[in-house]
Amino acid sequence: MPEYFHRQFLSRFGAAGRVCTCGREHPLGVRDILMGSGALQESARLARSRYPQALIWVLSDENTETAAAAAWKQAAGGRIISRILPRHPRPLPTMELVDSLTGEARAAGPGLIVAVGSGVISDLGKMVSRGIGIPNWSMATAPSVDAYASATAAIRVKGYGRSLPAGITEVIACDLDVIRRAPAVMFLAGLGDLIAKFPAYLDWQLSHLMTGEYYCAEVEEFALLSARTALAAAREREADPDAAASTLMDAALVSSLAMQAVRGSRPASSAEHAIAHFWEMSFAVGREELDLHGILVGAASRLVLGGIRGFYRDLSGFRVDPRRRQEALSREPRWEDRAGDAMRPFWHRMQEEMAGHAFGPGELKQRLEAFERERERISMVAAEAVGELASGVETLQGMSYPFSLDALEVSRDLRFLPVRNIRFLRNRYSTFTLAYELGKEEELASAVINQAV
Ligand SMILES: [Zn+2]
Ligand SMILES: [Zn+2]
Repeated sequence: MPEYFHRQFLSRFGAAGRVCTCGREHPLGVRDILMGSGALQESARLARSRYPQALIWVLSDENTETAAAAAWKQAAGGRIISRILPRHPRPLPTMELVDSLTGEARAAGPGLIVAVGSGVISDLGKMVSRGIGIPNWSMATAPSVDAYASATAAIRVKGYGRSLPAGITEVIACDLDVIRRAPAVMFLAGLGDLIAKFPAYLDWQLSHLMTGEYYCAEVEEFALLSARTALAAAREREADPDAAASTLMDAALVSSLAMQAVRGSRPASSAEHAIAHFWEMSFAVGREELDLHGILVGAASRLVLGGIRGFYRDLSGFRVDPRRRQEALSREPRWEDRAGDAMRPFWHRMQEEMAGHAFGPGELKQRLEAFERERERISMVAAEAVGELASGVETLQGMSYPFSLDALEVSRDLRFLPVRNIRFLRNRYSTFTLAYELGKEEELASAVINQAV
């Protein structure tokens, strides 16, 4: 049996009461991860041995029903309720859908929720599970996202994508006979979602150095490993597609466990996710078959790379003029005026993000001092992360990854709006925040836009 990295993660962090070098405990709620050929049947048998009398509520869609759910239900037997979402239109993970599914499930009175599918289906299963307070299991059908074991779900609330607390999945089964039959675009989507760990790593470190935000080096080490493992899967694909599918699945599990360990998406998501989420929620993408979370995250990571590469290269020679920055801050328009009318549909959400954000002369002074103190370490971390992201993008380019915003048919008026508004879309420190503090925000946004493909 191959030595999977997610097993290493579980043995390092799974022990109850272990205090990490970051000073915190990282309790994991996941009990078992079954990975291999036949994991589907194995998990069905396990479900019946752990929940012998229970009614099991199984969520799937028309695609995953054929790929895995029908077989799972047959293997599990006993009392089961099937809920199969349509293939077309593709179900959107809205709060309305969460509420209606939760209502249906609650009325049936199940003892276990089983979600069969990637992304949206597994997120919906976790939300229903939290809503009625019963455990959920997840049957992965594609290595397309890294959210299987995360403690959050990506749900649209009033049209805006949110990362909401969700029920932690107790058992995750990745049947390699199912995973390796997933469409090729799902493999690319997984790669796209995972190369985002390089910019996410950079931004988490950056925030730690600049703002003192909590940071865990042990968890981060695994998040980085997940991105590197994904690239190993990409290189392995031509010679051995089956091995590549299991390597990528392993990588996605490690990244999702890293999120679970810190109870948030910090190790996995930063500015590139804010851009991709904006495109998702504004229905900006014309090519429906490519309108997948991971594909958009990969394209946004490539976009971000175009700007941050030059930004960090030029930073070593950059001299801060604190007086000019303070003057500029005092003349700055309110964020509502800066964001402008095009962003109006998203104001209610940006208001929430900006509400927790106080930034005045005192904060600016602290940040500029932190920058002077940490600039060498920032440069070192950035050189490493930017280099790895660049080589990741290159590897994916060799596989004809759809990076081009034209190929994705991202609507021209929405393409770069999130780039100019990243700070307001998500109150999470990133290179874009540093650029703002140094008075280089416009320069960075323009570089991103000019380098777009
Ligand atoms: Zn830690
Ligand atoms: Zn993601």
